[in-house]
Amino acid sequence: MLTQAPRGTRDIFGAEIKKWQEVEAKIREICENAGIEEIRTPIFEHTELFLRGVGETTDIVNKEMYTFNDKGDRSITLKPEGTAGIARAYIEHGMHNMPQPIKLYYLSAPTFRYEKAQAGRQRQFHQFGVEMLGSLSPAQDVEAISVAARLIESLGIENIELRLNSLGCPECRGRYNKALREFIGENLENLCPTCKERYEKNPLRVLDCKEEKCKKIIENAPSVLDCLDEECTAHFNKVQEILTEMGIKFVVDPKIVRGLDYYTRTVFEFVTNSIGAQGTVCGGGRYDKLIEECGGQPTGAVGFGLGMERLLLTLEAQNGKFENKPYKDIYIGAIGDKGFVKAQAVTYNLRKEGIKAECDTVGRSVKAQMKYANKIGAKYSVIIGDNEIAEDKVSLKNMETGDVQEIKLSEIANYIAH
Ligand code: ATP
Ligand code: MG
Repeated sequence: MLTQAPRGTRDIFGAEIKKWQEVEAKIREICENAGIEEIRTPIFEHTELFLRGVGETTDIVNKEMYTFNDKGDRSITLKPEGTAGIARAYIEHGMHNMPQPIKLYYLSAPTFRYEKAQAGRQRQFHQFGVEMLGSLSPAQDVEAISVAARLIESLGIENIELRLNSLGCPECRGRYNKALREFIGENLENLCPTCKERYEKNPLRVLDCKEEKCKKIIENAPSVLDCLDEECTAHFNKVQEILTEMGIKFVVDPKIVRGLDYYTRTVFEFVTNSIGAQGTVCGGGRYDKLIEECGGQPTGAVGFGLGMERLLLTLEAQNGKFENKPYKDIYIGAIGDKGFVKAQAVTYNLRKEGIKAECDTVGRSVKAQMKYANKIGAKYSVIIGDNEIAEDKVSLKNMETGDVQEIKLSEIANYIAH
């Protein structure tokens, strides 16, 4: 217990954290470039927000939330997704009074769901997400989608497909639920127990079931696209037209319904076959009723959530191009007590000049210090002892070529290209 992280959680460090940082830097660059600003919302919210925002018939609310009462006896829930918190913040800070649209992103936000832990499915995972609030136009849907598409493209990810669907407005959805209930009703006996419940409360959810027998049944289910009214159809067509003009490839998949209740009209997923069963890397859509549902004014909005773990798994599976060179510029070795003290100060000063310098802080022998310098990938090394200090000179060794150069102790920085 004491020496093992809780099931479904992981430590991220070493070579892995470097990859995260590299991807995170790329994400920031892409977002800033598209005029999207960062927001950091609390890691927990009032449980009520998720009941309203995510929906009481969803798996998240029914089975997956980390909910507890705090010492003031308030019901609190660890964020199971990123959108509801942002909707709350949008209302709380009167963002509808600012120039619209409001374009926000969150990065590597810890997200908690009590799920069966397996590859690509954890209990604490991390999401990058984008939310764009204040526009009903299909152009806004595409602007959101295009951010995820650019990220995937710029990371060189292949074998990934953008799947697109429309759930229509609540009226279209009502029509579709009716058609779906009729269809499912004929096969009710063969559905899994959860889907039997879904059939009553929210038949759309059956399309999202991961059980093989349910998947088989819904293969021939009616298409939601046949239930869309004129306006919803026009919206969906415009989304496709703009995506096509941008050169962003997609397939229309009427089976995509997403796991959250708040979606209206456009929904989409980026799915890969490179990382096994949990292949949905990114999912999102339009949620025009959410802000109202949470107590704000009617506000068109669209966004997505992207699982950082799954993104990194995909990159690794495809041997993604990481820079991955954890080198140090120089190792400042030391002999004797004076040298040891001097090495600390020289290292400190080199760091101030932007040089990645390391020195001995353990008390190793000179031989062990040089071995260590090699292990950490230092490009140069010097050894400082009484003589070097007295004569203000050191031998700067290029660790790759073995070349040695006599230079002034005080001028190390000038000789290191970093
Ligand atoms: P799934 O169908 O795989 O359960 P979801 O529809 O529940 O996914 P979303 O709520 O859309 O997922 O979350 C957005 C993204 O977050 C997913 O596409 C996925 O990359 C990631 N994600 C969701 N749940 C987990 C989890 N338990 N562990 C790791 N990543 C997850
Ligand atoms: Mg899920």
